[in-house]
Amino acid sequence: MLRSRYDVCTSAKTVLLVYAHQSAGSFNAAVKTAAVDELKKQGCRVLVSDLYEVKFKATATEDDITGAVKNPEHFCYGNETMLAWQEARLASDIVDEHKKLKEADLVIFQFPMYWFSVPAIMKGWMDRVLTLGFAYTLEKRYSEGIFRDKKAMLSFTTGSHETMFSSNGINGDMNVTLWPIQNGVLNYCGFQVLAPQIFWAPTHLSPEAREGLLEGWRTRLQGLLNEAPLAFPPADIFDKGKGFQLKPEVREKQADSPFGLTVGHHLEKPLPPQSQMKAGV
Ligand SMILES: Cc1cc2nc3c(=O)[nH]c(=O)nc-3n(C[C@H](O)[C@H](O)[C@H](O)COP(=O)(O)OP(=O)(O)OC[C@H]3O[C@@H](n4cnc5c(N)ncnc54)[C@H](O)[C@@H]3O)c2cc1C
Repeated sequence: MLRSRYDVCTSAKTVLLVYAHQSAGSFNAAVKTAAVDELKKQGCRVLVSDLYEVKFKATATEDDITGAVKNPEHFCYGNETMLAWQEARLASDIVDEHKKLKEADLVIFQFPMYWFSVPAIMKGWMDRVLTLGFAYTLEKRYSEGIFRDKKAMLSFTTGSHETMFSSNGINGDMNVTLWPIQNGVLNYCGFQVLAPQIFWAPTHLSPEAREGLLEGWRTRLQGLLNEAPLAFPPADIFDKGKGFQLKPEVREKQADSPFGLTVGHHLEKPLPPQSQMKAGV
C-alpha cells in the first residue's frame, strides 16, 4: 500500500546542509563538520546554509517581497510570494536558498530539537524558502511533489533520552513527533524522506560515547545517498472528488492489517511501528 520512491546514487551529488546552532563548540557543530568532511571525501559538492551565522530572517512578512504587494489590505503570504517568485521580486536571501535547493540532490537539516520540533530559525527557513509555486502547489504535492527527485532528512540532537520518546515514555512516541515535519513539510513538497539521524541526549554522555556517535554518523554518511527512503502513501489513493479521503477500496484492502497505514492515517488502529524512524517497515 505504501511506496518508497527510490533511486540509487551513481555519480557525484550536491548536498545542502541547512544548519541551525548558535555555537561552533556544540555537538551539532561537530555533527555538521563530520557531514561536510565525509561527504566531500566521497566527492559530493556540499553547500551549507548556516542560519544563525547569516542571521537568517525567521519571519514570513511583506519584507520578503521587493516592490508593491498586490493586496496590502489583506496581505496573503502564500499568494503574494508566489507572484513575487514568478516576477523575480523575492528577497535576495530567499532567492539564494532557492538556488541552492534547486541544485541539491539531498538536503540535510541539522539542528537541536526545540519544543518537539525544529528551532524557530529553521522553521523560518521552511516557511520562507519553500515558497508556493517553487516548492509545492495544490496539484504538485506529496508523491507528485515538485521535489520528488530529491532526498531530504532530519539530523538532530535531543535533550531527552531515547526511552523518554517511546510510546510509553514521558514524551510519547518519536514517530508521532516526527510526523508533522517529515510528512507535513518534506513529504508534502515531494522529497524522498530518509530515516532521521537522532543523537539522543549527547549532553549526558561521556566524551568517548559522543565520539562513538560521530563515528556512527560518518559510517552512515558513506551510504546515505543510496539509502531507501521512508514509505508514505501515494497521493492517488485519496479521492480528490471526495475531499481527498482515502478511497474505499484502499481502506477495504487495509481492513485485515493489524496496523494503520501511517502515523497520520492510522485508521483508528495501532500505529505502524517505527514507520517514521526506519525505511522498509
Ligand atoms: C528552546 C529549547 C527547546 C528544547 N526542546 C527540547 C525538546 O522538545 N525535546 C528535547 O529532547 N530537548 C529539547 N531541548 C534540549 C536540546 O535539544 C538539547 O540541549 C540539544 O539537542 C543538545 O545539543 P547541542 O548540540 O546543543 O549540545 P551541546 O551542549 O553543544 O553538546 C553536548 C556536549 O558535546 C560536546 N561536544 C562538542 N563537540 C564535540 C565533539 N567534537 N566530540 C565530542 N563531544 C563534543 C560539548 O562540549 C558538550 O559537552 C530544548 C532546548 C531548548 C534551548
